[in-house]
Amino acid sequence: MKTLQLTLILLLTGLTGLPYGLWAQTASHNFTLEPLPYNYDALEPYIDRLTVEIHYSRHHRAYYDNFIKAIQGTEMEKMSIGEIFSNISKYGVAVRNNGGGYYNHNVYWENMKPGGGGIPDGSLAKAIEKKYGSFQAFKQQFEEAAKTRFGSGWAWLCYNSEEGLFICSTPNQDNPLMDVAEKKGIPLLALDVWEHAYYLKYQNKRADYVSAFWNIVNWDRVEERFEKASRE
Ligand code: MN
Repeated sequence: MKTLQLTLILLLTGLTGLPYGLWAQTASHNFTLEPLPYNYDALEPYIDRLTVEIHYSRHHRAYYDNFIKAIQGTEMEKMSIGEIFSNISKYGVAVRNNGGGYYNHNVYWENMKPGGGGIPDGSLAKAIEKKYGSFQAFKQQFEEAAKTRFGSGWAWLCYNSEEGLFICSTPNQDNPLMDVAEKKGIPLLALDVWEHAYYLKYQNKRADYVSAFWNIVNWDRVEERFEKASRE
């Protein structure tokens, strides 16, 4: 039996071209570290190349690697990220911090793009106007959430069926999908306000980083997330 297993592994390793360790790891869960959707320098001058490179290739990767390690050999390997988050209080702090870090950064990278910015369109624009009165008023509230988060954390625009759109912030790597969150909903727009997201270029001036963010928001992506969330 052992020989048969070994033969199969060697065969698969040969066919996929992946080293055995990597093959075994990719086969045990469904979580992937998404590639950065643009080059490291694509968000210049608003977010500098070195910050994006370190943030993605070291911070985000470390959250991913540590999340995979934390769920290895557990029931979480077969769960969706949403199922894990909605039961996060049952799991250890390593899953909460690293699973959150893994997911939150996926949303963050995706909701930016070079040449982004401007104002949202379509159903999202209407929903923002209805809830906040104007895009300017929404921006102000979101900036307030980002600037007043004490220490490290995130600012969010989210959706839930009771309230529609809402703005909130979470500490550390928590997010509004987690059962421990003060306000629960589906993240539409994420802004990382950890110092590692801005310190090289903006030093202690978080407010400048927050206002620069509007120039690179990928509103098409945020609207897609809104439409999907409001259909569910
Ligand atoms: Mn970060």
